[in-house]
Amino acid sequence: MTASRTAGPLVVKFGGASLADPGRVVRAVAEARRRGRRVVVVVSARERVTDLLVAAVRTPRDRASHRRLLAEVTALHPALPPAGRRHLERLGGLLRAVERGRAPDPPLVDRVLSQGERLAAHWIAGALRSAGIPATAVEADHLGLITDNAYGASCILLDRSRVPVRRGLARLLARGDVPVVTGFFGRSLEGRVATLGRGGSDYSAAALAALVGARRLELVKRHVAVLSADPADVPEAQPIPALSYEEAEELAQFGARVLHPLTIEPARAHGVPIVVRSLDDPAVSTAIGPSRRGRRNRAFTMLRPLRLLRLRVPGGRQRPGIVSEVAERLRKAGVNVVQLFTSSALLCLILEPRSVAGALRALAPITGEDGVTVDGPTAVALVTVIGDGVLGDLHRLPKAAVAGVEGFSATPRALSLAVADRQGRQVVRALHKALVRVRA
Ligand code: ASP
Ligand code: MG
Repeated sequence: MTASRTAGPLVVKFGGASLADPGRVVRAVAEARRRGRRVVVVVSARERVTDLLVAAVRTPRDRASHRRLLAEVTALHPALPPAGRRHLERLGGLLRAVERGRAPDPPLVDRVLSQGERLAAHWIAGALRSAGIPATAVEADHLGLITDNAYGASCILLDRSRVPVRRGLARLLARGDVPVVTGFFGRSLEGRVATLGRGGSDYSAAALAALVGARRLELVKRHVAVLSADPADVPEAQPIPALSYEEAEELAQFGARVLHPLTIEPARAHGVPIVVRSLDDPAVSTAIGPSRRGRRNRAFTMLRPLRLLRLRVPGGRQRPGIVSEVAERLRKAGVNVVQLFTSSALLCLILEPRSVAGALRALAPITGEDGVTVDGPTAVALVTVIGDGVLGDLHRLPKAAVAGVEGFSATPRALSLAVADRQGRQVVRALHKALVRVRA
């Protein structure tokens, strides 16, 4: 394992904003190759492109805005090689198909969305070749990165992808090429294009790194690496130099926008070390790997706006099967539960605002019973503190921050507090102040 790991390629993923200056991407790749490394590049679409494509499929009839989109996307990819220009034409054709139909179906939406990454891969491969670095654009669906059929939020199937991905990339690497692989989508089991959810190129890169036994995965972001909180909420937020896989996974899952939630698992399972780094500031980076004793990290996320429903059921949690009955009814109604807390008497559900009405409908057979009451919906924010050993901090939580807490859930590395929505920011700041040592 160790021998193959050190021999494995370096996988470097460039985020949309970091592509703004292709010259810097070229220099970063040239530098890695000078150090004698085989490099696989993964790209997301240029910043704005996916947003524009999402807007286009939401307004299927708006031909004029589609024309403007094509012009803008064309301008964002100057000096595109011929294979890339064919993708611009294909995008035009796909948009015409969207205009002709009613609402486009999910696989057609995903095909449209995938064009952003295809353009970026051809564009960056062209820039590398112009700088004398042999490079080939690789489209992940053609390569054989296989996903399930959950269009718009699909999962990569590593076992099914292993043989074609390894074979395809090894062939290019063996002849000295830099594969420039599209992030964000793969090919579904039905053979159609399936995207992985917004920000999915991080996840693609982690899966590819796991599949090829990469020595390291670098996620290059334009502005910052991983911070202790969103600076929009906590101005004192500071970069975190090292996180365990488990901490990073909690952070991504709890909605820190810096990483796609599924990024960590493939890297952890295959022992690939991750470095998140900033293109603007080489001094700022976050290493993600196995946990280390003695290291103390505290990072904060806040999810809002959310809604809390409190269900009081006679017999409470002791009533046989009540928790699974609630969960099953919500699952059938397609309602996603953000968080669930129970006490003996209460069942508390935290939901997205748009799913409250559906949840109440789905739970009506229970809430209509004698003696069952529902409180809410109450507007809440879910503030989570993440860090190995975080339960040791319970005694340090400032009183003012926990006074209005509606509910609480905890594991040894993530502590979530549901607080009144309007207090969310105040609470996250107070907790940050109490638990993070700010370096000068
Ligand atoms: N381009 C896609 C998005 O904007 C995927 C990514 O950026 O990772 O969501
Ligand atoms: Mg993007």
